[in-house]
Amino acid sequence: MTTATAAGVGTVRLLPQTRALRALHTVMRDRHAGREEFVTSSGRVIRQLIETALDLLPFEPREVCTPVGRTYHGLRMTPHICGVSVLRAGDSMESELRAIAPGVRIGKILIQRDTVTKLPHLYYAALPADIDRRHVLLLDPMLATGGTALAAVEVLLGQGVEEDAIVFVTLLSSPEGIKAVHARHPRVRIVTSAVEERLNENAYMIPGIGDFGDRYFGTDVVR
Ligand code: URA
Repeated sequence: MTTATAAGVGTVRLLPQTRALRALHTVMRDRHAGREEFVTSSGRVIRQLIETALDLLPFEPREVCTPVGRTYHGLRMTPHICGVSVLRAGDSMESELRAIAPGVRIGKILIQRDTVTKLPHLYYAALPADIDRRHVLLLDPMLATGGTALAAVEVLLGQGVEEDAIVFVTLLSSPEGIKAVHARHPRVRIVTSAVEERLNENAYMIPGIGDFGDRYFGTDVVR
């Protein structure tokens, strides 16, 4: 399903809200879910998101001969793609992209909010040298305020990536985050599995999932 955003520009590709998807969300969103359950269910949703994002990229015609000697008029996806994960939570999406496209190049960006100015600060970026000639899957499971997403998009644009060559792949998104990204970069496409109600006063999404990175990597455990 493709929906118009609140800003009326750009598009959000929302995964079909099937019962199977809702069941995976039910596991992930349960505060009592164990880490294994959380990792498995989020990984399954991320795999669907990446398949959906790849479908937005260019394809070219390709014919193959089938084992019964007939021609199949098929398609081949552009090989000019790469992933860029936004550390740390975006790391959770790399393995799913690699499972689908094993040889894919993957860049990394570390952006963190400055404790004094509260503004996103770029600490580290390692990107493929020819990224300006690739379609980029920008990987961050949480699109909350949009601050990190905007900073990451700016890094890519600064490297010469075209705005419409960026597909932002995110597990959960907020209306505020979608609006912020599309207000500044209307041609960046967003693929998500849920659009939440809103942000709370601590910039967590509600009903939400809590801190994705802590739950995925197990850094939320209290001894
Ligand atoms: N980051 C998270 O991990 N969760 C949210 O709800 C918002 C940002």
